[in-house]
Amino acid sequence: MRRQPHKRRIVPKQASETERGSLEPARLLHRAEFLTTAADWRQLPPGRAPEIAFAGRSNAGKSSAINALTQRAGLAFASKTPGRTRHINFFRLRSGALLVDLPGYGYARVPESMRRHWQHFLARYLAERAQLVGLVLIMDARHPLTALDRQTLEWLLPAGLPVHVLLAKSDKLGRSEQSRALEELRSAVAREFPRAQISLQLFSATRNEGVAEAQAVIAAWLAAVDQRSQKEGPPCQGE
Ligand code: GDP
Repeated sequence: MRRQPHKRRIVPKQASETERGSLEPARLLHRAEFLTTAADWRQLPPGRAPEIAFAGRSNAGKSSAINALTQRAGLAFASKTPGRTRHINFFRLRSGALLVDLPGYGYARVPESMRRHWQHFLARYLAERAQLVGLVLIMDARHPLTALDRQTLEWLLPAGLPVHVLLAKSDKLGRSEQSRALEELRSAVAREFPRAQISLQLFSATRNEGVAEAQAVIAAWLAAVDQRSQKEGPPCQGE
């Protein structure tokens, strides 16, 4: 089943402060709470709360980025507890919107059958999850755009959703290396994914750099959903 963007009706679970425009981007993400975990499609949470997904190669800095964006040390590390690393973990914001921590890919010691299950689940989640409004893709600033990053973009792009790339651990690069990494990735993305909506920025969880910029991107995605659902009116019955 393909996504049909014009039919999407995504509404936050609770009438939010964001809808009234009074919640600034940083506060929007604060006080996120662990909601649930899903190992297959039937376990995904029901409802129409908009979802922002986070993906990236294992060890790229995804958990640290989620913790920095929500200002909750340890929030995403909950996803790393044994048994949960291969699950999709959901965190709920006060507005009702969800942050979705997708399993880190590229982890070597995973049996082939499990790897296939996960690739299939991730591909389906990115292509078909109607609640998804955007993807934050975390790349290690020193090794950006791996084969699996490209694969993730390929899975998502037919859905026509925006992607925001965090070039994480940017503190490991000097100033000129940072600018070069940003420019090289910008031109690679423009060349390889010319029709995609991909924005990028430097990010360091350790130094808290780039946090406000990333929060603003997420807040803008959620605000756009609010505006769309207000224009389109309440969801049709039975949808
Ligand atoms: P994940 O596997 O993608 O969730 O990555 P983690 O967030 O667990 O980070 C992997 C490793 O990179 C850990 O040792 C982190 O402390 C380190 N790390 C994460 N973010 C940063 C950063 O911004 N700067 C530096 N220097 N190290 C980081």
